[in-house]
Amino acid sequence: MALIVQKFGGTSVANPDKIKAVAERVLACKKQGNEMVVVLSAMSGETNRFVDFANQMQAIPDPREMDVLLSSGEQVTISLFAMAVKAMGEDAISLLGDQVKIITDKMHTKARIKSINTDLLNKHLKAGKVVVVAGFQGVTEDDNITTLGRGGSDTTAVALAAALQADRCEIFTDVEGVYTTDPNICDSARKIDRITYEEMLELASLGAKVLDIRSVGLAKRYKVPLHVRSTFTETEGTWVVEEDDKMESMQVSGVTYNKNEARITITKVPDQPGTATKIFKPISDAGIIVDMIIQNTQGEAMTDMTFTVPRTDYKKAMELVEKIAADIGAESVSGSPDIAKVSVVGVGMRNHSGIATTMFDTLSSEGINITMISTSEIKISCVVEEKYTELAIRALHKAFDLDQVA
Ligand code: ADP
Ligand code: ASP
Ligand code: MG
Repeated sequence: MALIVQKFGGTSVANPDKIKAVAERVLACKKQGNEMVVVLSAMSGETNRFVDFANQMQAIPDPREMDVLLSSGEQVTISLFAMAVKAMGEDAISLLGDQVKIITDKMHTKARIKSINTDLLNKHLKAGKVVVVAGFQGVTEDDNITTLGRGGSDTTAVALAAALQADRCEIFTDVEGVYTTDPNICDSARKIDRITYEEMLELASLGAKVLDIRSVGLAKRYKVPLHVRSTFTETEGTWVVEEDDKMESMQVSGVTYNKNEARITITKVPDQPGTATKIFKPISDAGIIVDMIIQNTQGEAMTDMTFTVPRTDYKKAMELVEKIAADIGAESVSGSPDIAKVSVVGVGMRNHSGIATTMFDTLSSEGINITMISTSEIKISCVVEEKYTELAIRALHKAFDLDQVA
C-alpha cells in the first residue's frame, strides 16, 4: 500500500463532469490499495475572475481581503469533489488550509508555508477516506487566510507529500508532462521523460508554469519523487528526479517565456555610493521581488537604472519608485508592463560557448529587439516586447534543434 498525493489543476476540474471524471480516476488508484490525498485548484479561469473583480473595487486591492477572495475558488472544487466521491459509494472529506493547519508567514498573496500539521490528515486517512485538500491556501498563526502565489496548488501538493512522507506526488495537468517549450505555443515541442530538479527549477523560475517553482524547490529538498502527467490520458509523463547518467545531455534543454514581469526605468539617478540601497530597500521591504537589474552610466555623475518586478506588483512598485526617485533627485521614472522575458536553459551550457550568440542572432533575424539581457551558468534571458513572445519562442526552439529527437 502506498500513500499518494495527487494534484489536479484548474483545467482538470473545470466543470462538474470533469470533477466526476477526476473522482473516478482517484478512486481507481485507491482501489489498487493506495491511500489517497488529493489537492485541487479552483476551476480554470476562476482565480483570474476574482482578481478582475478585486481590481474593480480598489486600485491596489487590500492584500488580506484579496486572500479571502482568491482562496474561495478552491473551496468550491474540493467540496464538489468530496460529494462526487460519496456519490460513487466511497468516503471523502474536504479540508481547507486552515482546517488542516497549513501554517504560513504573513506575506499575503505570496505566503510561504512554515509548517503542516498532519494529525487530522492521518486520522481521516486511517478511517479510509479520500482526503481532499484545497490547494494554494494556508493560514497565519493569527488566523488570517493566506494564498501561496499564483500556481501555488503545486506547492501545497508537494508540501503535503513531504509532510506525510508520501511515496510519490503526481501533478495532473492539461499537457502530458514537461516539454522542451510550452506545447501550447510551439507544435514541435517534445515531451522530456526525465529532468533534473536543477533544470526544472530554472525552467520554472523562467516561466514554464507547468510546475510552480516553489513546488520544485520543496521536492528537491525533501526528495519527493514528482511525476507530471496528463489528467486526460494514461500516458507516462515526466519524472523530476536527481541527476543521473541516463539524462539527455543537451546544450539547451528548454526554452521558456514569462509574461508576468514589468519593466521600470529611473533615469538620471545621481551615481553615488548607497543609491542602489535607497532604491531597492524600500521595494524589498514592500515584499516586491526585483528580478533583472541593469545600470547604465550616463556621463560621470549620473546613471540610469532599469529593473523588472512582477507584473502584479507593477502599480505598487511604480508608486513607490516615483517617491524614491523624487527623494534621491532622479530625473524621471518610466515603465512598461508589456514585456516578456524569453530564456534558454540547459546544464549543458556550462561547457559550450556560442549559445548567447546563437540566441541574439536568432532574435535579430526575426526583427526582435532585445531590451535587457541576463545570464547565469545554465541560462540566458532576454527581455523583448510582449507581442513578439510566440515568434521568439518558436525561432529559438528551432535554432537550438529542440524539435529533433535526441
Ligand atoms: P494547471 O492548471 O494544471 O496547474 P498550468 O496552466 O498551471 O496547469 O500549467 C500547465 C501549462 O503550462 C500547459 O498548458 C502549458 O501551456 C504550460 N507550459 C509552459 N511551459 C511548459 C513546458 N515547458 N512544458 C509543459 N507545459 C508548459
Ligand atoms: N487557483 C490558483 C491559481 O489560479 C492556484 C493554482 O491553480 O495552482 O493561481
Ligand atoms: Mg499550475
